[in-house]
Amino acid sequence: MSRGDEIIARALEELGIEFITGHPGSPVTRVAEILMERGLNAEWAVNELSAIETALGASFAGIRSAVVIKHVGMNHIVDPIMCANLTGVNSALLIIVGDDPGATRSQNEQDSRVLASFMELPVLEPSSHERAPEVLKSALTLSEDLRLPVVVRFTADFCYTEGKYHEIKKPEKNLLRERKKWISTMENVEGNHRKLHEKLKVISKIFDEWLRLPDEGEEVILASGFVASKVREKNLIALETIYPLPSTLPEKLAKFKKILVLEEVEAFVERHLRSEMHLRGISSQVFGKETGNVKLGRLTEEDVKRTIEAFRRGEMPKYPEEIRKPSGLCEQCPYEDVAEAILKVAGERKIFIAGDSGCSVRLRAPPYELLDVKLNMGSSAGIARGFSLKEEKTIAIMGDSAFFHSGIYGILDASLNDSNVLLVIVDNEAAAMSGFQKTPNVRGVSIEELLRALGVKRVSTSEEKEELEKIFEESLGRRGFDILVYHRRCPEDKYK
Ligand code: SF4
Repeated sequence: MSRGDEIIARALEELGIEFITGHPGSPVTRVAEILMERGLNAEWAVNELSAIETALGASFAGIRSAVVIKHVGMNHIVDPIMCANLTGVNSALLIIVGDDPGATRSQNEQDSRVLASFMELPVLEPSSHERAPEVLKSALTLSEDLRLPVVVRFTADFCYTEGKYHEIKKPEKNLLRERKKWISTMENVEGNHRKLHEKLKVISKIFDEWLRLPDEGEEVILASGFVASKVREKNLIALETIYPLPSTLPEKLAKFKKILVLEEVEAFVERHLRSEMHLRGISSQVFGKETGNVKLGRLTEEDVKRTIEAFRRGEMPKYPEEIRKPSGLCEQCPYEDVAEAILKVAGERKIFIAGDSGCSVRLRAPPYELLDVKLNMGSSAGIARGFSLKEEKTIAIMGDSAFFHSGIYGILDASLNDSNVLLVIVDNEAAAMSGFQKTPNVRGVSIEELLRALGVKRVSTSEEKEELEKIFEESLGRRGFDILVYHRRCPEDKYK
């Protein structure tokens, strides 16, 4: 038995993926790390945008590539993909995305199927661990046959639970014979966009071959992706071809009076299916999240059981409420020094404080409960800058990982406008929260030098917690943009 993330990594290796890049983030962090440990050409990019651009270049060069990102990383790849879906690619390009229904380790639970369909890319999701290698193989073939990046979605439940590995053979490479120009510009956009729609029609016909339907019954359960592995019923359709839907799916489902769609997070399949059935005049009823028969977000095995039982009784399901507590900082954490110094200097004053992705988010938990806001990675400087327009000095706190990922842009604007912000960059020399991956500063890039190159005039540096109070006092006592880079590692046993 192997864990889901190990199964993905092994399949990518067996398929002969020659270049793997991405950005660490649960639930798929281990996928790339296993491949790094096994000596494959795998790396972490500073962010997902850089990862997808490099992988696109590699694919154009004939190198089979994969990008490994979590669901929020999908937001960063939209820009280049909205051109690459028109120009097409050369060698296979797989986008391995880890979704987190229930947001057990993330700031949201966005559903990658929605964004992938917006990008007009095919989406596959294996229905079990055993099926995953075969689904990845089909994704690779599809990518090279249709010259499109293909999204393969995995959920946290898939990645963190175990199943059997099913061996696969590496398909022959299907390279373009002539090197073509991958240029997306006004003279070819309309034509390429029409061709993309034609490709999606071809794909929906290819997906027809995957359909397996039960023979009998008036009701059927249609489960999208890995949810199928949680259903203990015979009248089940395990749908692995998520977007576009198989072209004949509505007609094939017409023999059932009621269809219950089980999926995690959004009502994605349910919505598409209902609309297609309506367009084709099919009167079967489709039930799911939009009809209140299935809850939004994650579906555990227990949720699936409750949902089906309630559906059979003609009732709406009731789910037990889950109470979660935020996790706080470890002992001897560098953020603890920052929090204590801020609280001392602020006294009774209420200062607006923006946190960021990474361990700074733990400052929201007791005993500090310091944060007013925390959204996406790298956002704290920009948000603090916006709030400071209210004529108050604000504070932003980010780690070195968020700084390199995308924090730099907000800092550049704050610097250009001499915004009334104190930014604290905690440099613990790692992306601590996602597993202590090395950040660029460990590889010789100086945060201070970068900040000065960005035009920031007041940059101070400290390695001593005793100095923080004085630095904060001075900064909060004057207008303008100040940055403190606090260099302090986490307890040594946390580093690999
Ligand atoms: S991993 Fe490091 S930065 Fe994160 S909470 Fe623990 S000590 Fe603090």
